[in-house]
Amino acid sequence: MSAAVDASPEPVAANRDAVASAAASGAADAAAITRGPTLEAVRDAAVDCTRCGLAAGRTQVVFGTGDPHAELMFVGEGPGAEEDRQGLPFVGRSGRLLDRLVAEEMGLTRDTFYIANVVKCRPPDNRDPRPEEIRSCRPWLEAQIDLIEPTVIVTLGNFASKLLLDTTEGITKLRGSVHTYRDGRSVVPTFHPAAVLRGGGEAMAKMRADLVRAKQLIGAR
Ligand code: SF4
Repeated sequence: MSAAVDASPEPVAANRDAVASAAASGAADAAAITRGPTLEAVRDAAVDCTRCGLAAGRTQVVFGTGDPHAELMFVGEGPGAEEDRQGLPFVGRSGRLLDRLVAEEMGLTRDTFYIANVVKCRPPDNRDPRPEEIRSCRPWLEAQIDLIEPTVIVTLGNFASKLLLDTTEGITKLRGSVHTYRDGRSVVPTFHPAAVLRGGGEAMAKMRADLVRAKQLIGAR
């Protein structure tokens, strides 16, 4: 997978925003995020990140994968055991379901979109990421969004939806309509595929409808 090729000598707004976010969170290593204006440079900085306690238990940072110029970006929760081992997001059962539904409802394969998580390191025993871990990792995700510049972000589950929409509302209330990220791009919240695996037919049907909604937004551009 190729990474971003933007060779602009000046930091883009993405990095300025990321730095601002990092500074606001009191991050000591915010400067690491300014190493370059490309997604590849941000990734190179992220792989050594120790901004939160999850660094201690990870095998590797799971930064994200896909087209660095994608119109569509998925944001999930955090790496599981298989993701931690392979260094790639959504490679287990949830990922296979997501790939299948995206192919069936949107006609897209993984190399045509980008996918990342709210936290880039595996929480132990697959527990939920903690608020301070999400806050620490947020600048990496914001830098990814700002550099990829997707038209549509599909948030998978509660953690990604609440974070990017800056709300305490749960996914059940948020899904079913189109929302707006802070810079104006569209956000389509839907269930995490792990929840769909547990939830059965009704959850699956709703997730399919959300993916169709996202596809229509891309097509309407
Ligand atoms: S979860 Fe994010 S902030 Fe925490 S160590 Fe990993 S990359 Fe850094």
